[in-house]
Amino acid sequence: MTQVTHLIEIQGLKKTYQSGDTRVAAIKQMDFFIDDGEFITIMGQSGSGKSTLLSVLGGLNHPTQGRVLVDSLDLYSLSGEQRADFRSEYIGFIFQSFQLIPYLTVLENVKLPMAVTGQKKKVKNQMALEVIERVGLGAKAFRLPDQLSGGEQERVAFARAIVNKPPIILADEPTGNLDSQTAREIMMMLQSLNKEGVTIIVVTHNSDNAAYATRSLNVRDGECAA
Ligand code: ADP
Ligand code: MG
Repeated sequence: MTQVTHLIEIQGLKKTYQSGDTRVAAIKQMDFFIDDGEFITIMGQSGSGKSTLLSVLGGLNHPTQGRVLVDSLDLYSLSGEQRADFRSEYIGFIFQSFQLIPYLTVLENVKLPMAVTGQKKKVKNQMALEVIERVGLGAKAFRLPDQLSGGEQERVAFARAIVNKPPIILADEPTGNLDSQTAREIMMMLQSLNKEGVTIIVVTHNSDNAAYATRSLNVRDGECAA
């Protein structure tokens, strides 16, 4: 008998936040899987648990109960250090607020996740410049983030997410604050990565973005429906 394994498996997942006397059940119960090569959009109203789900999936947020398996690795049974290694090998994050470092140039921001990869400086620069070129910012590699438009900052965040060539990209509302043309360009860049074999998981509240996906998941009150 062959065992079918999925790239990502979510089993009996629950996440409750405790702040003071208040408990918020951000994820009440989730069980689902994602296969290698999928392009998933996650939709749902504000507060429904989408960002929590993405951070748990990416090994950044310890669940209250349940398991997250990625490539058969049980993420939250790893040590913190092992989980950090997992993240740098497997995951490219594009956060909701781009989280660029304001006093670092485009090139330096893109090189941040490469710190742990141990290549020589010259090789790192070249790899970073390649992805900066790919997102159309070749001429702006030495600018600071505040010398760029919102769409360009998003591209820097995108370049930083792909520079280590991770097999999984997690993006939290990457088009939320962009005009529709720029938003389309970002979704098309994700689609082209997906065609190269990268598994993409995008949180979005724009239902037009579902057109880029191979599958859509709906999150509602901390539960997930296909
Ligand atoms: P979404 O991304 O769908 O808007 P979130 O995952 O950000 O939803 O939030 C889900 C629920 O969990 C919300 O009620 C939110 O207020 C709460 N929440 C999120 N992060 C925290 C946190 N760090 N501490 C306490 N409550 C939180
Ligand atoms: Mg959110």
